[in-house]
Amino acid sequence: MLIAGNWKMFKGPAEAGAYCRALREAELGSCDVVVCPPFVSLAAAVAALAGTEIAVAAQNVHWALEGAFTGEVSAPMLRELGVYGTIVGHSERRQFFGETDETVASRVRAALEHDLGVIACVGETGAQRAAGETEAVLARQVEAIAAASPGRGQLVLAYEPVWAIGSGKTATPELAQAAHAFIKTILDVPVLYGGSLKPDNATALLAQPDVDGALVGGASLEVESFAAICREAA
Ligand code: PEP
Repeated sequence: MLIAGNWKMFKGPAEAGAYCRALREAELGSCDVVVCPPFVSLAAAVAALAGTEIAVAAQNVHWALEGAFTGEVSAPMLRELGVYGTIVGHSERRQFFGETDETVASRVRAALEHDLGVIACVGETGAQRAAGETEAVLARQVEAIAAASPGRGQLVLAYEPVWAIGSGKTATPELAQAAHAFIKTILDVPVLYGGSLKPDNATALLAQPDVDGALVGGASLEVESFAAICREAA
C-alpha cells in the first residue's frame, strides 16, 4: 500500500522542513509513504527526511535533460537533489497548463529512463462521466502512458476522477473499484485512488481489491490527517 501526499502549491522550504520533521516522528504504520512538495521545497524535504523510509517526489518533470524550457525541471536535476520520483499528468496540469496525453507520455518516458518513480494520473471529468465516456477517456489516457513505459520501471497510476478532486465529493468505493479494475485491464500496475480522500473515508476505499493506495491532496497538508490516512492503509 502506497500513500502519497500531493502538496500542490503549498508550503515553502521552511514550512516543508517543519512538516517533514513532524512526519518522521508520527506513527505511520507499515505502508510506503511519499510526500510531493513544490520544486522549491524538495531540498528541504529531502534533508528533513534523510535516513527515513519516507520518500520525496516532485509534482512534475520535463522530458529533456536540459535546454531552453523556461520554468521546467529535468529528471537528472531531481535525481541530483535526492528526489526519488515524480507525479506526472495531474488533472490540474491537464486543465490549467495545457498538458496533453502526448506531453504526459513524454514526461513519463523521460522520468522512467532516468530511474525516477512515476505516479501518472488519469481520470474523467464530471461531464465525461455524465456522458458515459469514462471508460473511453481512461482508455485513451492509460494507453498513452502504457506506450511510454514499455519496461514499466517504477510506474504506478493514480485514478483521480476530476469531479472528486478538492470537491469533497469522493468516489464511492464501488465506483473506484470498477475504474481501477478497468484501468488494470489496459496496464497492470498498482493504481492509487485520489479525490477528496480523508481519514474518515479512507478505510472503505483502501479496502477495495484493486485500490493499491492513495494520492492525497488537501488532507495531506496537515501531518495529523496524512498520518491518520497512512495508518488506515497499514
Ligand atoms: C490531488 O490533487 O491529487 C487530490 C487527490 O486532491 P484532494 O485530495 O484535495 O481531492
